[in-house]
Amino acid sequence: MADERVEVDYHPMWEALGMDLPAHDALLGAVGEMYGDIYLTQENRPESTGYLDFVASNIHSGRIKEMVDAKGSGDATKVIGSFCLYVPEEVITACNGISVGLCSGADWATEQVEERLPRNTCPLIKSFTGFKLGNVCPYIESSDLVVGENTCDGKKKAYEYFGTLKPMHVMDVPNVHTDEALAMWKSQVRQFAKRVEEETGVELTVENLRAAIKQANDKRRALQRLSATRAADPVPISGLDSLLTVQAAFMDDPARLTDAVNAMAEECETRVAAGEGAAPRGAKRILYTGTPMAVPNWKLYNIIEKAGGVVVGEEACTGYRYYKDLVDESGETVDELLDAIAERYFKINCAIFSPNPGRVEDIVRLAKELNADGIIDCALQFCTLYEMESADVQAAAEEAGIPCMHITTDYANEDTGQLTTRIQAFLEMLRPRR
Ligand code: SF4
Ligand code: SF4
Repeated sequence: MADERVEVDYHPMWEALGMDLPAHDALLGAVGEMYGDIYLTQENRPESTGYLDFVASNIHSGRIKEMVDAKGSGDATKVIGSFCLYVPEEVITACNGISVGLCSGADWATEQVEERLPRNTCPLIKSFTGFKLGNVCPYIESSDLVVGENTCDGKKKAYEYFGTLKPMHVMDVPNVHTDEALAMWKSQVRQFAKRVEEETGVELTVENLRAAIKQANDKRRALQRLSATRAADPVPISGLDSLLTVQAAFMDDPARLTDAVNAMAEECETRVAAGEGAAPRGAKRILYTGTPMAVPNWKLYNIIEKAGGVVVGEEACTGYRYYKDLVDESGETVDELLDAIAERYFKINCAIFSPNPGRVEDIVRLAKELNADGIIDCALQFCTLYEMESADVQAAAEEAGIPCMHITTDYANEDTGQLTTRIQAFLEMLRPRR
């Protein structure tokens, strides 16, 4: 695939989006260097992960141009950005919109952010606020509408401020799994659908909604197929490449992504049959669980894998939760299809739910299915929800006889040495469970 960066100057496009060009050049330079250090130093990558290098090199350039051009030519209506897995992408794509996940995995404009938000706010919230205040995110700048959600307290209060900077729609996500909460969530999905119809000028129909559901389901099926190969020892693909695959799914063209993931899955299936691995047979196998890892937050996976471990699965929104459930495609009216969408999204086991037993059940089951030797449970600093839930994760892992380590971290590199030491010690004490 061609790397358009060397041939095209994207600065006029970024300038037209209102971005801060010197700051954005600095960000791209830093992320590019980090990508080289973390991703391109990996050994025994499947050849098909060349797609991930293509995505990484085009993420702020070629992909943005595609979106801008699609809107300009009338091939797409609007770009709609979101921060949470609870926002149904099917509704956006049915209205011929482009759904993008707004990444928030790096510190930016921290001083400006802390003038408005408390210092002890989680890094993810600070990050999306900083990307906007610093004008360095082409996805935020090209979004015609940003969709927030009332999940954790930090996010819901930060959206009040973010809404003064960008047009926003906020969805109210329930925090209990009851029939009443599901009914409320269904009405939220309908309100969201109405807002997207108004924004795009396209009416939802059975045809466009069903096609959008099928497209999203195809993407999830491809990711499920790739994930299944990670149960093998040796594991055919690294955790870093698997993480980036899901991160790419939030940003890249869905059809291109699905084709690429199916090609990766096919190559990984062949590798499994041939006993070829991205890590040596017997490498200590980790199930990751916890807060999502937004682009370009590759820190923890890099530490685990550079220490000789390998991440074989993730119970997280940048992993299993993203692709585990399909939407029922059989509805015959727009209402039935919207209900099916709401029901599918209601199964995402975010730590905002109380109680949240489904999450710990998934963690233990996934650890067994993927033959993990240990679990690393991670909360971003100041994330009360995942910090609190870690006690349940630890207890369930202990009962299942699977060693589990809890980590609290942020996006900075100050704790890299300390985390490396702790993770090396954890890997050393693990015993293969196969
Ligand atoms: S962890 Fe919860 S709030 Fe965060 S993206 Fe996932 S569902 Fe949304
Ligand atoms: S990491 Fe925790 S505190 Fe931060 S946005 Fe997610 S749920 Fe909220």
